[in-house]
Amino acid sequence: MTEVFVPYGRQSISNADIEAVCRVLRSDYLTQGSSVPAFEDALAEKVNAKHAVAVNSATSALHLACLALGLQEGDTAWTVPTTFVASANCAVYCGADIDFVDISRESNLICIESLRKRLEDAKSKSKLPKVLIPVHLAGNSCDMKAIKELSIQYGFAVIEDASHAIGGRYRGEMIGACTFSDITVFSFHPVKIITTGEGGMACTNNSDIAERIKRLRSHGITKEIARFKANKPNPWVYEQHELGFNYRMTDIQGALGMSQLAQLERFVARRNELLGVYQDSLESEYIHMNRISDECLSSVHLAIAKMPTSTPDRYEQIFKYLRSKHIGVQLHYMPVHLQPYYRKKGFSEGDFPEAERYAYQSLSLPMYPSLEDTAQSRVIREVKKAVDRYLKP
Ligand SMILES: *Cc1c(COP(=O)(O)O)cnc(C)c1O
Repeated sequence: MTEVFVPYGRQSISNADIEAVCRVLRSDYLTQGSSVPAFEDALAEKVNAKHAVAVNSATSALHLACLALGLQEGDTAWTVPTTFVASANCAVYCGADIDFVDISRESNLICIESLRKRLEDAKSKSKLPKVLIPVHLAGNSCDMKAIKELSIQYGFAVIEDASHAIGGRYRGEMIGACTFSDITVFSFHPVKIITTGEGGMACTNNSDIAERIKRLRSHGITKEIARFKANKPNPWVYEQHELGFNYRMTDIQGALGMSQLAQLERFVARRNELLGVYQDSLESEYIHMNRISDECLSSVHLAIAKMPTSTPDRYEQIFKYLRSKHIGVQLHYMPVHLQPYYRKKGFSEGDFPEAERYAYQSLSLPMYPSLEDTAQSRVIREVKKAVDRYLKP
């Protein structure tokens, strides 16, 4: 009998979610109704942000966040190589240059020491970044306090790419509270912590930024009479003030998001429970599971097995072995600077050694709330076999 394929991640959809979606489908408004504002308010309250603006993906949220911070041609944004390409693409959409800061071997997150050195160097060359986009990989918060201090010292803005991290905490506060950043972005893609099919959210405590993102998600149009440029506005008038996009979330998605948000704590608790089992069963000199700092509650988007003795050859063997056993292991992520598109911009091997090492030592194991204990036991058994076969001397 062939064993069923266990993916690395998947959504959890309840009957309540399905009913919430059906209610919108039977209602008058499929978009621009009341579900999206309700979801925005609920999320803002949950993460303790003043404003939350929903859009059709985290990629769109990152793009509009960069625009709202004034990122444009001639500017530079920095992010890490160990992330999804969208964390870098958002700056390129604005005509800005992108550069990367290497990750730390300990945390897999942006290395504060490298960041500090790079900033010193960039300052001496008058090439400081306008925006930094730290990424909370696997749901673990970056060292935001240190980043905030550097942002004040060097005068750059901060967008937290928290696509993995809704439901997590840093220094006691919910990720999204923007205590140490200008904007925080969440993703609701089905593999993430909560889903709207496709969808994203930008949180901020700055009302001008929130207004700007709202306007940009809907063509650059405003319907608020108080903001009109015309002297005698008529009731049929709306004004386009800048070039925007249609990045709106539908109310079908908003209702799903609202219903999913109500399950956030349960999802995060189950993910932490599953990670605990992986840690208890696999932690050894050959495998380290996610290391989560004491300052953090992780949403555990990914269960990352780090194999310090792995090499590119061994990595390929382990990956192929586990896939042959129908275990959907995955690499998160291939370093962005080594993508063909970014190589063409001048990046190459050796530029960010820790991110490159990470890519042949780190494997995401199946992690999602509905992962059954028996399936997880099978994953653990096969990972142990792979360690015996390919990592032990
Ligand atoms: C998923 C993801 C994105 C993009 O999210 P979408 O909602 O799919 O656009 C951006 N950054 C990171 C780190 C992600 O994991």
